[in-house]
Formats: sequence, structure tokens, C-alpha cells
Amino acid sequence: MKPKWVLQELAHFFFPNCCVVCKNKLLPTERGVCLQCLYKLPKTDNFKEPDNYGEILLAGRFPFERFASFCVFTQDGLLQSLIHEFKYNHKPYIAELLGVIYGKDLLGSEFLRTIDVIVPVPLHPKKKLNRGYNQAEAFANGLSKATSVKVSVDELIRVIDNPTQTKLTQTQRWENVEGIFDVRNNRVFENKHVLLVDDVITTGSTLEACAYALLKCENVKISIATVGEKF
Ligand SMILES: [Zn+2]
Repeated sequence: MKPKWVLQELAHFFFPNCCVVCKNKLLPTERGVCLQCLYKLPKTDNFKEPDNYGEILLAGRFPFERFASFCVFTQDGLLQSLIHEFKYNHKPYIAELLGVIYGKDLLGSEFLRTIDVIVPVPLHPKKKLNRGYNQAEAFANGLSKATSVKVSVDELIRVIDNPTQTKLTQTQRWENVEGIFDVRNNRVFENKHVLLVDDVITTGSTLEACAYALLKCENVKISIATVGEKF
């Protein structure tokens, strides 16, 4: 554990804890976000909606079964605060909490019915070491807790680290991520329906690059779930 996290954990223990969104004091049963803010999350429920906007956007780029996002990403909105906290503020438990909530929503759905394994978009090991965790993996763990579908973190790998994508055009983003993912063993996802998960989908180029690596496995099926969508 890095000293900064130790301090944060100690602060969490000794000082009254506040909701990262509304700053109200949390109840002892709440962690990171209060129930009122969780209740206000801008859920899409688009897992119930074949041919949703994300699916139309990704259609034709690579073969996939379904796409769904938990919430809509709105600038300065509720989801943005939460994503900022779990991505940059050492709070992976928020991503996991959102995964648990979404997993409960997905339980019993047609979307989840044939999923065999959950695969988070991997970070480069160097970046994961720096951040201390992979936020997509934390979300995947939450989904797994709620649905009992297992998570695979070691088979889809990021072989090349790439610079941040925020200032690139869509074509530049694709060139930036092409070939950076691989699967260790082509047989591992053979005949499996993989649920590929990430934090936010914007252009979809990272997910597309992951899909190309997964498609090396014979007869693999791919669905996608993200915490947020920001098209
Ligand atoms: Zn709150």
C-alpha cells in the first residue's frame, strides 16, 4: 500500500465521512456515496433495449451481441463526480459499488442470460501499478458479486501502454489503440460469451481494439457493458 492510500484509509476511519457527490454526512452503512445520490443516478436501462444508441454506433465495426451502459455521462453531472472519484481519487470501491447495483439490475435479464465470463478492459501493468488498481476491474468485481459470473483479469492483456486519448480525433484514437491488446491463450475464450467491461465509452475505439484481440478465440461472442456512456 502506498502512503497516500494509508493516510486516506486512516482519514476515512477517524473523521466523519461525507458523500463524494452531495458532501452530506454518510450513514455508517454507506461508503463513498449516500443512498440519495445513488437513487438519483441517471440510469439508461438500455440493456432492455436491443438496437439502443450505443449498439447503433458500434454496429459494423466488429461483431458483437449486445451493448449496454449503466448510466448516461453528463458534463458536471452525478456520474461524472463518481467516475472522477473512482478513476483519479483512489476510490475503486465506488466502481465496485456501481457494479453491484448494475449487476442486480441485470440479474434475470436476457442481456445477462448467456454471459460466461466478465472481462475488464486491462490497464497497462505500469499504469495499474501507478494507480494501484484498474477501475474497470473494480466495476467487473461488483458485477460479479451481484451476478456470480466470474471475472477473468489475466487473459486479455494490454501489451503496449498508450498516451492519454483525451485530445485525439476518432481516427487518431483508433490508430492509438490498434494492436495494443492481446490474449495470452487463444483457447481460453473459445465458445464463450464474454462480457467486456469498461468505465466510460466515448468513441468505442478502446473496446473495438479489445474485441479484435478477443476475436482470435474461435467462436467467441462479445457483449459490452460500461459504467457510463458519453457519445
Ligand atoms: Zn450524496
